[in-house]
Amino acid sequence: MATTRELLDAGIERLRRAGSESPHLDAQLLLAHVNGVDRTAILAHPEAPVGTGPAAAYAALLMRREAGEPVAYLRGIKEFHGLAFVVDARALIPRPETERLVDLALDEVMRRLTAGRDGGTGVRVVDVGTGCGTIAVALAAGLRARRVPADEVTILAVDVSAEALDLARENAVGHGVGDRLAFDVADLLPPDPPLFDLVLANLPYVRSEAMTRLPVATTYEPALALDGGPDGLRVIARLLDRLAAVLGADGVALLEIGADQEAAISDLVAARLPGWMCTVERDLAGLPRVARIARVPGVGHEAQA
Ligand code: GLN
Repeated sequence: MATTRELLDAGIERLRRAGSESPHLDAQLLLAHVNGVDRTAILAHPEAPVGTGPAAAYAALLMRREAGEPVAYLRGIKEFHGLAFVVDARALIPRPETERLVDLALDEVMRRLTAGRDGGTGVRVVDVGTGCGTIAVALAAGLRARRVPADEVTILAVDVSAEALDLARENAVGHGVGDRLAFDVADLLPPDPPLFDLVLANLPYVRSEAMTRLPVATTYEPALALDGGPDGLRVIARLLDRLAAVLGADGVALLEIGADQEAAISDLVAARLPGWMCTVERDLAGLPRVARIARVPGVGHEAQA
């Protein structure tokens, strides 16, 4: 029987040759996965023998990874904001940069609750294009961890893909926040949406011509979740066009953007939502990542709700 170290070393070498950017991590995660343990157990016990069953399963996963399939789909799991999300080809794999958006959303919700500014209606949140439930589920779990009662914040998770939404439901239930979320299949928003205090979204924002230059692993993900049209902002622009009707007077939209779209999103907001403000928050890598869009208070807008 081969040892853990032998299988790991062989796997790392194969994945390095296949062009993986993270051959060590990939091999450790896959070997841990077939052994039903976490990565630290693999690192802590390099001399442990690996049975023929797990070794064969590992070899099969290595082959798929060599072909480019993302490790997250091979494991069926991706860690995001301290939670393990169930993932598969029905939805985009959660990215670490989106954790920033979740943190900003948590701050916004908590600020509204502590200021007592929810006017008795609770804080109303929508996650547009929720995919596997990334933002909505992480936000709901974060609120539960802060002991916010479920009825003080309503969170609607919307996706145009019914099968992505099935995955989102699975993640909500898996993380024990099914009672904090509602789900709806719709293109961006349902036809007659209520007003929201927070509109959150990680919509597709990759320029169509850049799609072919993405890492090969992304070709396993739904293009619908990535392709933002010729300028990358086509879907986000459609959401901007609906913001005035769905965002309460004091509402804020937090939209994830590409690192090179800071100027473009500001121009787009100026063109589509004259008189509104748009500022861009950076992610942990220091890159522009989340556009914060809201009405300028008291500057001649019709009061809404
Ligand atoms: N950050 C993602 C990527 O480049 C894009 C996510 C998106 O389009 N919303 O892989």
